[in-house]
Amino acid sequence: MLCTETEQIDSGRYKTNSQSIQFGPWDISYDVSCILPSVCSTKVVCERDDDQFCQFCIYCKDLSIPHFPDMVFPKNVLKLTHSSGGVIQFNPLDALKRVSCRIDAIEVSCSEAWLESRPGAEKQKKTFDWTFSTDYKGTLSNNIVVEHTEEPIDFELLKKKDQILFYHDLTLFEDELHDHGVSKLSVKIRVMPSYWYILLRYFLRVDDVMVRSHETRMLHKLESNYVLREFTAKEAKAQDLNIPMTRMKEADDVIPFLPVKEQIREKLVIC
Ligand SMILES: [Zn+2]
Repeated sequence: MLCTETEQIDSGRYKTNSQSIQFGPWDISYDVSCILPSVCSTKVVCERDDDQFCQFCIYCKDLSIPHFPDMVFPKNVLKLTHSSGGVIQFNPLDALKRVSCRIDAIEVSCSEAWLESRPGAEKQKKTFDWTFSTDYKGTLSNNIVVEHTEEPIDFELLKKKDQILFYHDLTLFEDELHDHGVSKLSVKIRVMPSYWYILLRYFLRVDDVMVRSHETRMLHKLESNYVLREFTAKEAKAQDLNIPMTRMKEADDVIPFLPVKEQIREKLVIC
């Protein structure tokens, strides 16, 4: 088991903190960095014809949504590389690619205020999901085969008190919906002596309107050749929940009470 920590300034002048751990055939690492700027910081570079872009311009180029969350952490990335070459990673750009350009017919009491706060948003009212809801389940390299399974995540194993070898909680993006709630995507990893476990969580709370969660859990036991992936979508209207809004501030306080809308269990086989 080897744990390393580095600090470096990359070409985009982002200060990045990294940490990694070796776990059997897995190299597990994360980077933490600062927030995505709201404008292009290097116009001279980005307007050149050589495919070099700042982070902001990469986001504008790759995403079809007209606005990004208030806080995007472009270099907050969790990456798990298997010695066979298989890679599982979690990054905000791929997550935002899965935000719909079409809005569901959510009745949103804060819609007006939100639109007023963003000039130009009015015309995109119907064509853009400003809650940034994403069903992102992580990014997999091509040599990982996804199969259906009935095998559930072993929660008893997760509850066992054991030594934590590596832990981190990374925010990928967050938006406060103009003070009318929260939309947040984060990923947590825990490496234990006999397994690693990941919880990727999208949490949406639109005050007095609704609560939604999309959670992806991944569990890999040492010496097995696969990773279990369980995706659970939950959602409820605020009026259907017997919980005061003040007690819904934290995702952990409300998610256990939400009804399950969809659950998908898969096995990621490392070739
Ligand atoms: Zn730029």
